[in-house]
Amino acid sequence: MTDIRDDVRETFTELYGAEPDGLWSAPGRVNLIGEHTDYNEGFVLPFAINRRTVLALQARDDRRLRVASAFADEVVEIDLDELVPELLHGWSAYPLGVAWALGQFGADLAAMPGVDVYLESTVPIGAGLSSSAAIESSMALALNDVWQLGFDRPTLAKVGQLAENRVVGAPTGIMDQSASLLGQKDSAVFLDCRSLDAEVIALGFAEAGLELLIIDTGVSHDHATGGYADRRASCEKGAKALGVESLRDVSIDDLPRAKDVLDDETFRRVRHVVTENQRVLDVVRTLREQGATAIGQLLDASHVSMRDDFEISVPELDLAVETAQANGALGARMTGGGFGGAAIALIPSDGVSRVQVAIDGAFAEHGYGQPTMFSVTASDGAARE
Ligand code: ADP
Ligand code: MG
Repeated sequence: MTDIRDDVRETFTELYGAEPDGLWSAPGRVNLIGEHTDYNEGFVLPFAINRRTVLALQARDDRRLRVASAFADEVVEIDLDELVPELLHGWSAYPLGVAWALGQFGADLAAMPGVDVYLESTVPIGAGLSSSAAIESSMALALNDVWQLGFDRPTLAKVGQLAENRVVGAPTGIMDQSASLLGQKDSAVFLDCRSLDAEVIALGFAEAGLELLIIDTGVSHDHATGGYADRRASCEKGAKALGVESLRDVSIDDLPRAKDVLDDETFRRVRHVVTENQRVLDVVRTLREQGATAIGQLLDASHVSMRDDFEISVPELDLAVETAQANGALGARMTGGGFGGAAIALIPSDGVSRVQVAIDGAFAEHGYGQPTMFSVTASDGAARE
């Protein structure tokens, strides 16, 4: 099998007629638990996966920025002096947006040389595994090195987020970029989205004989964006009615009072966020005290909460989760923003194929499209190759 790094180096050289200065890479991520908690200043527990964007870059002696990707079949060019969010569109808004965002964080772009960039990725696009953060993080690390900016990784995560928020226009939190930049092999990143403190937590899946299976339903609902905005609005409404700055400030003990104050729907939205935050803390504690085999029920409970209280699941995700649970998974839940995308299942390694066969069968029986399934391992974050 040829290494994607050789491909990237070769194609870069063909495209730009010179060897790159170097290669950088950054992974996608999966969120183990903590859904719709990030914008409520709560907790998330993602990990970097063994699917990566690999990027080759060379500094130029003028001020041009050129980016190309195997996925896009075009070279997008812009001058560093023209770099404003309004001029950046499509896929190139991700890498070029990072160059712009570095300037917003204090890099003196007027003094920097242009660069040529070529990238390839093994992160599936739009499956909820953050192919976008993989690009942003690899680009941020590469420019940080070549432009000798000296930003630390938490700052580079904020740079990627700013690019995504202001250039791409997606109102996402800091989770994806943090996982991609701070992830470590066999570990998850426990992130406090209020303080932005990040702690690496050992997962020990392989040691415990476990695999994490991704089940990508291939479903993407039109109302995903509207649904996301609507849930954010419900959370804000709940926080306001309860007189707190964000739902991070509401505890399980406050829920009876919240039930008296809020309408039923807002209460259930709030209950999801409050109990989900607690489940993230419980998973972290359980991983430390008992190991990965003991976290299954918390994953299951997370799914029920998203299905019934937050109402962001779809029948395909419910079927994937229920079928995994009924066929030997220790725990399963939908992952990501909801309304489609992927589910995850934690499964003893020798039982993974049984779960896959069962899910394929169940989807066929229901007349659903065939899902894509693959295991992921927790991997190191962004790196210079
Ligand atoms: P995801 O869940 O995969 O992050 P997003 O919608 O946030 O989904 O980001 C996907 C977008 O990122 C793509 O539509 C494309 O614009 C960009 N992208 C992802 N991977 C690549 C790639 N290999 N080359 C070019 N652009 C990419
Ligand atoms: Mg994304």
